[in-house]
Amino acid sequence: MVNIFKFSDSRYSRQEAMPEWGVDKQSILKTARVAVIGAGGVKSTLLLSLVAGGIGTIKIIEYDRIELSNLNRQLLFRTKDIGKFKGEVAVETLTELNPDIDILLDLKEVNEENINDLLEGYDLIVEGGNSPFGRNLINEYCLRMRKPMVHASAQFSYGYVLSVLPHIQSACFACYFSNDYSRKNTTGAVPVNVLATSIAGSLGAVEVFKWFLGYEENMIYNKKLYFSSLLLSENFDVELNPRNLSCPVCSKYYE
Ligand SMILES: [Zn+2]
Repeated sequence: MVNIFKFSDSRYSRQEAMPEWGVDKQSILKTARVAVIGAGGVKSTLLLSLVAGGIGTIKIIEYDRIELSNLNRQLLFRTKDIGKFKGEVAVETLTELNPDIDILLDLKEVNEENINDLLEGYDLIVEGGNSPFGRNLINEYCLRMRKPMVHASAQFSYGYVLSVLPHIQSACFACYFSNDYSRKNTTGAVPVNVLATSIAGSLGAVEVFKWFLGYEENMIYNKKLYFSSLLLSENFDVELNPRNLSCPVCSKYYE
């Protein structure tokens, strides 16, 4: 079989050969600065995709340590890494994958005092706080600073992705999850598997690439792309979720 494609032997040649991607847009990705909060299951796959695809600067904010029960889904880590900081191992693994990427690390939990400093200078925020408090804090930061936020999540065999685009006054996180917004504490460990986290992570990465490659209009905003139980059904679906005009959170920032 004759290979009709001619690829130069470079790291990004297979994606640069795509008309919707190309060499010019690849160079734009090199200037992109993304902050990712958390390096767990969903974020493992998401980070691997951002780094492999050439997002130029990535900050990981993660303070947790690796446990045996993480390894069924958190693909950045190996059994020998148990007990180490997730952030440190993530930087090591991701740098081995692509040493051309600037990867920064903060071994911190985002809070009201440090959020401005931690996220300053980043164009897009991937939300992944493991508590409703953290999620809501980041939602409000993105609204205040008019930065796009990507949220991807999975539990059991379910998962979803959505983006918040404050510059066009899209639905904010609290418009989707008003009950979550009033909740302060996490519900603790929930059942989850690698199928759900990897798909959710990939869907989240797609949102990040859409933003920087110039496909903002194709992003998942004012709606949620979700999949229901992968083991029990075949469903992927979109649920429309327009902005709640009486949302107490984004109403503070939108006109
Ligand atoms: Zn809102």
